[in-house]
Amino acid sequence: MADKRDYYEVLEVAKGASDDDIKKAYRKLARQYHPDVNKAADAETKFKEVKEAYDVLSDAGKRSQYDQYGHIDPNQGFGGGGADFGGGFGDIFDMFFGGGGGRRDPNAPQRGNDLQYTMTIEFKEAVFGKETEITIPRTENCDTCSGSGAKPGTKPETCSTCRGTGQQEVVQNTPFGRMVNRRACSTCSGTGKIIKEKCTTCHGAGKVKKQRKINVKIPAGVDEGAQIRLSGEGEGGTRGGPSGDLYIVIRVKPHDFFERDNDDIYCEVPLTFAQAALGDEIEIPTLTEKVKLKIPAGTQTGTYFRLKGKGVPRLRGYGQGDQHVKVTVVTPTNMSDEQKELLRQFAGVGAPAGEVQHEHHESIFEKMKKAFRGD
Ligand SMILES: [Zn+2]
Ligand SMILES: [Zn+2]
Repeated sequence: MADKRDYYEVLEVAKGASDDDIKKAYRKLARQYHPDVNKAADAETKFKEVKEAYDVLSDAGKRSQYDQYGHIDPNQGFGGGGADFGGGFGDIFDMFFGGGGGRRDPNAPQRGNDLQYTMTIEFKEAVFGKETEITIPRTENCDTCSGSGAKPGTKPETCSTCRGTGQQEVVQNTPFGRMVNRRACSTCSGTGKIIKEKCTTCHGAGKVKKQRKINVKIPAGVDEGAQIRLSGEGEGGTRGGPSGDLYIVIRVKPHDFFERDNDDIYCEVPLTFAQAALGDEIEIPTLTEKVKLKIPAGTQTGTYFRLKGKGVPRLRGYGQGDQHVKVTVVTPTNMSDEQKELLRQFAGVGAPAGEVQHEHHESIFEKMKKAFRGD
């Protein structure tokens, strides 16, 4: 309220402008800023400002009050008429521009709404795909009345007030002449039809809420955030319009042992100091099976090995990604006295090695054990 612009300034007219000039200015500006026409971010604000200025300046009483006292809090002053914009843009637009403002034919078919369903699946289900059944609440056409809303054996009748157009013309005589304002027909609430005997299943709505079971096939290789569109499984259309679509949004639970980056799988495998130093052949869990991996002598901790084709099947196209195995050399703990002595000899030092617990590395062992079990 604080920084309200002067109404004359808003309409770009002089203080003593005639009613006709004010009306012309409003028409011009309303056309310029109408949100149906002007997509600028501030168009609606500007339009409201113009409308409010016009509401005041086009009313002789309000205008003289404004000329004397300036802006008045609408809560105390003009009964809020200027600021209240509940009527929507359509009516005003129609009033000036001849009703072409994108009104819908109330009898035209209308497509149903799209629906979205978030589905959380296991890591391996995303890799290999899954077929499942979900239950979603959705609005469907009423079977009893085939969506008409009328009791079976009867039909909705054309509204006699608006002759089926769903609109009513309200003619107002104003100081500027006759103004024709179109509103939704009050008899039929804009539907253009009157239902004398309502369908008892849907109470005249033509639609019912249903819990619908839907079979969903998740393709192998989907990843976090993937969307699956089930055409026509959204809400039912109106007056014979098509149904909307159902979008399944995929969330994937993380895995303890495997990590995924697109089509590639990553894992971390522990090696003992001896395995790393002397080389070995170890078993690695993959998504499908155990495979053998040769560790060459002198392998450093942090080295990656690639298991070709052991990754995720590609969602589109052929082949699959790889599995990358990172080896981590684990410092031994709980060694026997003999082992310690041998290690001292190896290191060529006499000092005892510290017995440090490596919880991080123990957890790698645990995770790999679980992966071998197929978890
Ligand atoms: Zn009507
Ligand atoms: Zn019905």
